[in-house]
Amino acid sequence: MKSFFYMSMICLALILGVNGCKQKKRLSASAKTEERTSPDSTKSGLVMANFRDTIENIPVALYVLTNEQGMEATFTNYGQRLVSLMVPDRHGIFNDVVLGFSSLDSYRIGNGKYYGAVIGRYGNRIAGGSFELDGTPYTLAKNNGRNHLHGGVKGFESVVWRVAEHNGKQITFHRTSPDMEEGYPGNLDVRVTYTLTEDNALKIDYEAKTDKKTHLNLTNHSYFNLKGAGSGDINDHLLQVNADQFIPVDEELIPTGKLLPVANTPFDFRKEKPVGQEVNSTYEQIVLGKGYDHSFVLNDEPKTEEGLTFTAKVTEPFSGRVMEVFTDQPAVQLYGGNFMDGTGGGKKGKTYLYRGAICLETQHYPDSPNRPDFPSTMLEPGQTFRSTTVYAFSVMK
Ligand code: BGC
Repeated sequence: MKSFFYMSMICLALILGVNGCKQKKRLSASAKTEERTSPDSTKSGLVMANFRDTIENIPVALYVLTNEQGMEATFTNYGQRLVSLMVPDRHGIFNDVVLGFSSLDSYRIGNGKYYGAVIGRYGNRIAGGSFELDGTPYTLAKNNGRNHLHGGVKGFESVVWRVAEHNGKQITFHRTSPDMEEGYPGNLDVRVTYTLTEDNALKIDYEAKTDKKTHLNLTNHSYFNLKGAGSGDINDHLLQVNADQFIPVDEELIPTGKLLPVANTPFDFRKEKPVGQEVNSTYEQIVLGKGYDHSFVLNDEPKTEEGLTFTAKVTEPFSGRVMEVFTDQPAVQLYGGNFMDGTGGGKKGKTYLYRGAICLETQHYPDSPNRPDFPSTMLEPGQTFRSTTVYAFSVMK
């Protein structure tokens, strides 16, 4: 009888203990959830108040997108910047895979000028900062030596966008770029929608209309590090690029006008290899680019059901994170962070080192307005420019 009593007490203690444990686990899980959904901060650790301000009479804030898989993307309407992107690794552990800052003020100072931003009106360089349209010369803002880069001194990354719609899964930014802004003709109406899908992709849809003939080349300039922003360089990330040809440049990073085959060069990423494998090679184009800072001409196939071309795949072997890029644009600029120098402290006090990120900017060829033989970037009144790029995340099998 006595031993039955002791046995019962032990069982009771065990049951209570186990339940107690379960209870504790549940409590800590809900504590975590609470922390994530708190309106004052984000899962990525950003404080919403640090992004609130009024610029050019437009309220600026941090906007959050989430999906059922636990991913989170945050944006500020200052430059439509993707401020953070929480992506799971092969163990389901989330980390922020894009470089950025913890406050609006840091973005406005200008270090990391293009982190996560929309780039416009023209992604990459226009030689001599000028072009001619129907015999009329246009002089653009010169912000890269004698050339024009990423839309000029105050490009789309440094203006405030109105939030046209935001529903937790999707956000649409809108702005009319006035006639002659940074030297470009035409009032240009631009609308960009970012969607965080349930299959862990960030989809970007661009739309634009003009009232005068102009040139346009929109892209997104996110700096990715799949180990987590500020976790060293990206030389060990594996990269595959779906391109048989790339666009060689001169010492000012302006296209020479030729297209070169990637075969037998450090630009051959048709089979995946570490980004850093040949980044210090003495091959002339690597020397001129100080590493990779070149556009690749995308092959036509393979395509997704939606008609987007497979562009590139980045794999980070340690975390197992994989990012695949798809686009309807003819090229992708591979920029390996050759101008990064560790200054301008990033989110969570992290330092962003030399080659600490990889950018895959889907776009038209650089300097197309001066190259009639390149696919045209012209937009005319009555036309609607539409383009889509997808950054899809998964883990290595
Ligand atoms: C350009 C680089 C430039 C970088 C700035 C890239 O798209 O090709 O030359 O330094 O953007 O973030």
